[in-house]
Amino acid sequence: MLILLYHRVAELQSDPQMLSVTPQHFSEHLAFLGKHTQIMRLGDVVQALQDGNLPQHGAVITFDDGYADNLYNAKPLLEIYDTPATVYVTTGVMGHKREFWWDELDRILLSPGMLPRTLRLEVNGSLCQWDLGDATYYSEKDHHRDSGWNVLEKYDPTPRQSLYHSLSKLLRPLAERERRKILDDLLSWADADSPGRRAHQILSPGEVLSLVEGGLVEIGAHTVNHPLLVSLPVPTQRAEIASSKQELEEVLGKPVTSFSYPFGGPNDYTRESVMLVKEAGFRWACSNFQGPVSLGADVFQLPRLLVRDWDGDEFARRFQAMFDH
Ligand SMILES: [Zn+2]
Repeated sequence: MLILLYHRVAELQSDPQMLSVTPQHFSEHLAFLGKHTQIMRLGDVVQALQDGNLPQHGAVITFDDGYADNLYNAKPLLEIYDTPATVYVTTGVMGHKREFWWDELDRILLSPGMLPRTLRLEVNGSLCQWDLGDATYYSEKDHHRDSGWNVLEKYDPTPRQSLYHSLSKLLRPLAERERRKILDDLLSWADADSPGRRAHQILSPGEVLSLVEGGLVEIGAHTVNHPLLVSLPVPTQRAEIASSKQELEEVLGKPVTSFSYPFGGPNDYTRESVMLVKEAGFRWACSNFQGPVSLGADVFQLPRLLVRDWDGDEFARRFQAMFDH
């Protein structure tokens, strides 16, 4: 049994975090899954785990974050293949015009145009400084040339990508208020607007309701502000976890029992986070470390396979490989 972790279904000009799968590739994944696996709902997997009769070649589809393209691009394909899925929504950004912070960084730093040469930011009381050098001006041609760049690559084509790297590292562990302040400083440094790009829009409460219409898609919670839970004190973790459940229940008018940890790696949350998820009344939770789900799995830390923009053949290879060791 394998739980798949997607984020977005969209054609993007650039995707430094590698979050998006094209609609074409997503259809190919669904076609493969429909033919070779038993696609299940997450709740049924948890039930099967408890009953001790887990199908070996089963699969579950999940999406993290709550991008609007889950409704506009993914849902129609899920309907064609009659495939259920769970979408984990970050509630604090629902219906906001701003982008997720990693998308905002991409827009500010990696879009073509002019930026001031030097960036000075105060972070946690100390002053940091970066120099964009000859990447102060970034032409359409440069942008096009670097559009395939992503954060896993060893070399940064220009100082703009290096800056993207250091700012992501810096912003990731911050509390929401500090992060917001730095992003606001960045926007004014770049002389950029705060409303985000259409392609990077986040689901609004109305869109969450459209997503569940028809019964194929279930909604789970993914915290309020997508924090790195390990860096937060327990009371703040509790609020992030419990409030996201409450806010979604208000939108949906029914209980939300499924959770996924932001970032989700084993070092991104703590034992207390798992306890708080149980305490909030969730019945299962997904992590982001790789592996099939087998009998005896902890239903509050279910492993998932992070899916990249693979074509159908590559997807099939990766899927099978998960069962071969
Ligand atoms: Zn996430």
